[in-house]
Amino acid sequence: MHTVLDPATEEVVTEVESLDAAQVDEAVARAVAAGPAWRAVAPADRARLLRRFAAVVDAHVDELAELEVRGAGHTIGNARWEAGNVRDVLDYYAAAPERLFGRQIPVAGGMDVTFREPLGVVGIIVPWNFPMPIAGWGFAPALAAGNTVVLKPAELTPLTALRLAELGREAGLPPGVFTVLPGKGSVVGERLVTHEHVRKIVFTGSTEVGTRILRQAADQVKRVTLELGGKSANIVFADADLERAATSAPAGVFDNAGQDCCARSRILVQRGAYDRFLELLEPEVTALRVGSPAEPDVDMGPLISAGQRDRVRGFVENGAGADGGPVDVAFRGSAPEGPGYWYPPTVVLPRSTADPVWREEVFGPVVAVLPFDDEAEAVALANDTEYGLSGSIWTRDLGRALRVARAVESGNLSVNSNSSVRYSTPFGGFKRSGLGRELGPDALDSFTEVKNVFFADD
Ligand code: NAD
Repeated sequence: MHTVLDPATEEVVTEVESLDAAQVDEAVARAVAAGPAWRAVAPADRARLLRRFAAVVDAHVDELAELEVRGAGHTIGNARWEAGNVRDVLDYYAAAPERLFGRQIPVAGGMDVTFREPLGVVGIIVPWNFPMPIAGWGFAPALAAGNTVVLKPAELTPLTALRLAELGREAGLPPGVFTVLPGKGSVVGERLVTHEHVRKIVFTGSTEVGTRILRQAADQVKRVTLELGGKSANIVFADADLERAATSAPAGVFDNAGQDCCARSRILVQRGAYDRFLELLEPEVTALRVGSPAEPDVDMGPLISAGQRDRVRGFVENGAGADGGPVDVAFRGSAPEGPGYWYPPTVVLPRSTADPVWREEVFGPVVAVLPFDDEAEAVALANDTEYGLSGSIWTRDLGRALRVARAVESGNLSVNSNSSVRYSTPFGGFKRSGLGRELGPDALDSFTEVKNVFFADD
């Protein structure tokens, strides 16, 4: 059994069973058995089922959101958006079964046709930071393409995924088509990765576990999509609308208490605008309301666990600089004392780019700000990381926006915005931030194999 705690109060929410490898094997066998009938469902009928699933999720947005507030500490506003995002992703991919087009390719001696076929059983492994959307980004396109799905939520946050599986059944998904298996990564996750009948793994989580999964998947040439860590740069040029850049920067990094792979946790500001930017940023950060995530007007809730809070604290306090010296805290907001796993939104000024707070993924409400002189230095600093997931560019100069967007090694960039994810556009990382793309049309392709068939005309 695994105990789910409320991160805002440390109270027990519930106990959830932790499955073993034999139970994974049984679930995969059921998913294999359900495959032929599911892929044979007429495209329009599969589309209708997904739309019905979206409608059932829509009818339960408040319930799902409340579960995420208690079980993951998400603010109620964010949690409602997240449940709505699952609905929207299902609606978007409901159009797919009738549009899984192949091609007819001109050849001599007959006709050549390609088909997009489902892979079979897809295993989806989800982290604790966005339990609902990340689950939906996997299962919606996988199901639309005719695969069956076995999904493992994170140990800390299994509740909404378990509820989504129930809602799928309520919507009419046949047994075995979408199963959620709570349990440990080293047991349930690892068995999904090594199971010979699981044809693809979609993994979102740490670069460390993702690397291990990639190695294990190689033995079976198993398909993988990996969404891993990030250390994204928010680049502010002196010609930008500084007020807009500064007022939107806190949400770009402190949303979900900074537990966001797309968090803009490094802010680069052109030297001429540096002081003014910090001046504008300070009141935005100190005004953030940190507290009970169930309250409607709260901006930031707790961190997921005591361990995560202590890890975040380690990037800021007690000689956290690369040389063992301090990291300067420029200013910070407030946070409740406890119980609960709280850490205040914090802005630090690293002493060097070797400081861990500048180099490593903090995954908490801490942002580091550094000045730069020119475009070339901004790009070099932004790219001086093993990651490449997200980022922003603030400037009024269109040519510069284009040049910098092309030069930054990152899968998702926004100009004059801090947005990262839209369900209709591809999402994923360069370098060690991942492999493959989720969402948009790219994800659909990644859940199919291309089969080429030649028909001789003689
Ligand atoms: P994690 O890697 O520890 O765990 C992620 C999931 O993998 C969990 O469900 C866990 O149980 C499972 N797991 C653990 N060990 C496993 C193993 N040996 N085999 C198979 N599965 C295993 O990560 P986390 O701490 O839950 O999440 C935080 C990390 O996720 C951060 O690094 C963050 O950047 C990353 N993340 C990335 C994205 C993205 O889209 N790129 C999105 C969200 C989170």
